[in-house]
Amino acid sequence: MHPNDPSLRSFVDVAKDSGFPIQNLPYGVFSTTSDSRPRVGVAIGDYVLDLAAVEEAGIIPRMSAQSVFRQPSLNALMASGGYSWSIARKHISAILRHDNAKLRDASALRNRALIQLDKVTMHLPVTVAGYTDFYSSREHATNVGTMFRGPENALNENWLWMPIGYNGRASTIIVSGSPVKRPKGQIKGPDFPKPMFMPSRRLDIELEMAAIVGANTPVGSSLTIDQAQYSIFGFSLLNDWSARDIQQWEYVPLGPFQGKAFATSIGAWVVTTEALEPFRVAGPKQEPAPLDYLTQTGAHNYDIQLEVELTPKGGKPTSISHSNFKHMYWSTAQQIAHHSSSGCAMRIGDVIGSGTISGSDKGSYGSLLELTWGGKEPITLADGAKRTFLEDGDTVSMRGFCQGEGYRIGLGEVTGEIVAAD
Ligand code: MN
Repeated sequence: MHPNDPSLRSFVDVAKDSGFPIQNLPYGVFSTTSDSRPRVGVAIGDYVLDLAAVEEAGIIPRMSAQSVFRQPSLNALMASGGYSWSIARKHISAILRHDNAKLRDASALRNRALIQLDKVTMHLPVTVAGYTDFYSSREHATNVGTMFRGPENALNENWLWMPIGYNGRASTIIVSGSPVKRPKGQIKGPDFPKPMFMPSRRLDIELEMAAIVGANTPVGSSLTIDQAQYSIFGFSLLNDWSARDIQQWEYVPLGPFQGKAFATSIGAWVVTTEALEPFRVAGPKQEPAPLDYLTQTGAHNYDIQLEVELTPKGGKPTSISHSNFKHMYWSTAQQIAHHSSSGCAMRIGDVIGSGTISGSDKGSYGSLLELTWGGKEPITLADGAKRTFLEDGDTVSMRGFCQGEGYRIGLGEVTGEIVAAD
């Protein structure tokens, strides 16, 4: 049976509302107190399956001379190629099935290889080669453009012709759960005679998805839309923290720089494109029709429901946004095709940020900048506190899932707490 078959069940108990049923099998890198070596696992219910352990026990075959699972990142697995990704997923799915005794009845191995999720430490899942962030939600670009330049100039002329992006910092991608220190930078408020170097006062979130590139391309070559689609290993949640006051002063003419370089949080779990396959949908109609190299046929967006929650220190969580990845105007395949169109090499471990995912109504905006309309309309939290931008001690958690028939494909969460500037 195909690993995506909705009728599959595991011998591991999986709650009905769990995002990690046997149809998902997202990859992550974890360690435990008894074995501090980071290694590759998949999530199943409330457990992580140690793939290095089951491979070494001979329950799943080794696919290459060097283990792709006894590794501190997913890069070796990605380098094994798309055909191997599929084979590996088949083997993992098979040993977790309720009617397969190999692991189910090997109690010593099972106790060693299936570890409760709340007992493991999660690490950055990939060695990040490069980080590129796009700006591909029409709603988000229109909202931000309206605030920064006025409604007449909200969308630049180029926006409808290509996925706009910038090269971010791979060095500051951090795994979910890591604290985020409030950045300092040059800020020039409307009433400042000259810029001041100070902590950001407009610290914001960006609700995004990260596509993880799993293929290398040589310098000077480019990818078609279909090749770009097949180059994607999987997706994680991404919070592209942004200091709006630093960004506003620095962004002309070369785009964001320090205002986005201090931290970008990525989810600990990478959901494979294969697991997401049943949730592919067509994106919005593109008018004007894109140029040939960006012309896509078929469904290249994904129906992933997204939620953002804000929790002040010691306070109650408040849900501040609900959005969906399917709203994106430019698809990930178009972004990667465009990225490589100049001959720019793509590398295993490249993180492609989707851009902030905003829907059409206010409750679906993916940043505080939009939710509070530039800080003019504060939001009220569950305990009565108001927020325009983030305060020290605030924790932001983003979650996502695809709803299948009788099961959910969860992306897990990406979370981070703001700590005071030095
Ligand atoms: Mn962004």
